[in-house]
Amino acid sequence: MSGFVKTKYHLQSLCCGDCFEDQNWELSCPNKSHAALLRAYYADKQLVINDKLPGLYKFSSWLPIHKTLNGSGAPVTFKSVGLADRLGLKNLFITFNGYWPEKGALMKTGTFKECEAYAVCARVNSKENDVMVVASAGNTARAFAKVCSENKIPLLIVVPEDNLKALWFTENIDPCVKLIAVESGGDYFDAIHLSNLACQIGGFYPEGGSKNVARRDGMGTTVLSAVSAIGKIPDYYFQAIGSGTGAVAAWEANMRFIEDGRFGSNKMKLMVSQNSPFVPIKEAWEADSREMLPFNDEVARKQVEEIVAKVLSNRKPTYGIKGGLYDAMKDAGGEVFEVSNEEADIAGELFIQTEGNDLEPAAAVAVASLMQAVVHKKVKPDSVIMLNITGGGIEKFKSENKVSYLKPQMVFPLNPDPLVVREKVKMLFENILV
Ligand SMILES: [Zn+2]
Repeated sequence: MSGFVKTKYHLQSLCCGDCFEDQNWELSCPNKSHAALLRAYYADKQLVINDKLPGLYKFSSWLPIHKTLNGSGAPVTFKSVGLADRLGLKNLFITFNGYWPEKGALMKTGTFKECEAYAVCARVNSKENDVMVVASAGNTARAFAKVCSENKIPLLIVVPEDNLKALWFTENIDPCVKLIAVESGGDYFDAIHLSNLACQIGGFYPEGGSKNVARRDGMGTTVLSAVSAIGKIPDYYFQAIGSGTGAVAAWEANMRFIEDGRFGSNKMKLMVSQNSPFVPIKEAWEADSREMLPFNDEVARKQVEEIVAKVLSNRKPTYGIKGGLYDAMKDAGGEVFEVSNEEADIAGELFIQTEGNDLEPAAAVAVASLMQAVVHKKVKPDSVIMLNITGGGIEKFKSENKVSYLKPQMVFPLNPDPLVVREKVKMLFENILV
């Protein structure tokens, strides 16, 4: 059941340090001084886990929310035996986001994007009767569509046409959720461009992506799950990244745990990975550049076509912005791994053999990066390692359930006429917006 739970928190701008209440769906500093993330500060300095609340909301004391919604699952952390033995690791902890009922993992869209969607849609929101706009490479759209459909929240999702196979569902999607696509050849970046046009329509507002504190703290529940299960802050954090927001969220959760005081004072090294040949964050990080290095859009689109983990195809990551991945990795330490499609395949197979569930390709990239770290002795056999499996059990879920695919109401060209976009998209919601 949905219900009320009011977390005490305030927001702080990382540029000027100003503190303020969360009232008007704030995504950036109200002083507009310069680009920086906002951060939520919770009244509970020590994490309170409330098992009486459903799914993800057991972590509500560190989520910027004012209600609970139906249908959520929480990340599940367990100590690995099979994979750990194979890699010669003594303290490998797997935080699993996805579908694995035997382990208590009940995310029916199969990825940690559900953590984000259930947090964002429960955030204090003065725009609750307007249309939220979410651009996505696929998994985020699937998660938001589920949450918004089940809880009757008006939503426009914008996805590249080439990624539509990510939009599978077992239930009918409520008409309050509409889908538009960018024609074949376009990627996540093009979807963002189209979504920006839609946000110019009165009554439409951007979900905000990495700038949304609820999005990041929703992702951060993976670390809340891990640290509360392990009893201490791990030494290393492994995750495949597209925008890098998950790693930023992990770092922020890490700092909250240091303040909590019960789990140690170390910072997890951020061991993040990309799917080659598309590795723009690796290139910027290794050049010690806060800015992304310049790249050719055509080349980037081709690289994205090649990679198996499409969700990692972000050309504008949360990297250089104040409080973003560059700052996180400078502060906590870490490195960026490069994983080929073939290495990801091998890692996915190894996970099935040793742990017994299938992985979403991005999660297979993370496992492959851990294998590289072991081979190159970047972790010790007794290091405490958190492996964030950001998606899995999708094949298992699909084999147990009949799925159908959401079709786009409209497909737009790569460089659409803004006026046409605004007119057509507005019409989609004619009967929903009052
Ligand atoms: Zn500011």
